Formats: sequence, C-alpha cells, structure tokens
Amino acid sequence: MISKPIFFSQNVESIKLEQLKKYKAVLIDVDNTLTKHHEKKLTKEKKHWIKNLTKSGKRIALASNTSKSRAKNLSIKFDMDVFVAYKPFPFAIKNWMIENGFKKDEVVMIGDQIFTDHLAAIFANIDSVLVKPITNRDFIVTRLISRRLEKIIYNLWSK
Ligand SMILES: [Mg+2]
Repeated sequence: MISKPIFFSQNVESIKLEQLKKYKAVLIDVDNTLTKHHEKKLTKEKKHWIKNLTKSGKRIALASNTSKSRAKNLSIKFDMDVFVAYKPFPFAIKNWMIENGFKKDEVVMIGDQIFTDHLAAIFANIDSVLVKPITNRDFIVTRLISRRLEKIIYNLWSK
C-alpha cells in the first residue's frame, strides 16, 4: 500500500504557511497544480500564495515533467528555481536537494498526481502534499490510466 501524503488540500492557495513551517524547501508541480495545461498565467490567488511563500524565506522550485520553457518563464517571474523532475523517478529531485544542500526532512513536494508527484516524493524519501487537479483535462495517458488508479488509491486511503 502506498503511504499517504502528509495532508490533502483543495488547491495550493489553501495551504497555509503554518502547515509548511517545518520545511526549508518546497517543490511544486506545474501542470494542474499551478496552472492548467498550456496555460502560462497564474490566477491572482496562486500568485499571492507564491509571493507569500517566497517571502517566508523558503526555497521554492518548480519540479515539472513537461514544457520546460513554460515552467522556466514562471520561475523567472516569481523568483523560483526550476528543474525537469522526471517524476516518479527520484533522481532529479535528489540531485536538486544535494546541489542546494537540503536534507530529506527539510523538503516537501506539492502536486496533483499520485503516480508522479506523490510517488516521486516517496522514492526520494521526502514528504508530499496532494492537491486536487485544477481541471480534469489531463494528457490522455494520465486520464485513461493514472486517474483511474488514483481513484482506487483514494478509496483505500479513505477507509
Ligand atoms: Mg500535475
């Protein structure tokens, strides 16, 4: 059985700084966590949340699997790190942690998918937070396979 995330959230902007206080670094997924697929802009609420997180002194990095330039533009605009994460594999996350001098218990991953974000966090031995996807429009493979399996896992977790 896959272990649970440390908590679930409706969306990123509902996550309170207080809930992340034990972490020095926050890794954030992009697609369906911060923006819809192909969307470049953040909502007002998400901008505000990121600005507050940055102000709190935490190191923030976008850890996306796709569209590097889109994630890169967001990272520049909001003064965050960015790297291609290759989730669910943990090596890119681990490399980023080593390069930036963070220990496992100092880093948390925030994302919308169990089989990429959450699993990568488990493999990298860091905590994770799962948010609800912004839309249910995913890449076809995600929609047909991952989301169905996610339903099963969510059901098991809720028991
Ligand atoms: Mg995602």
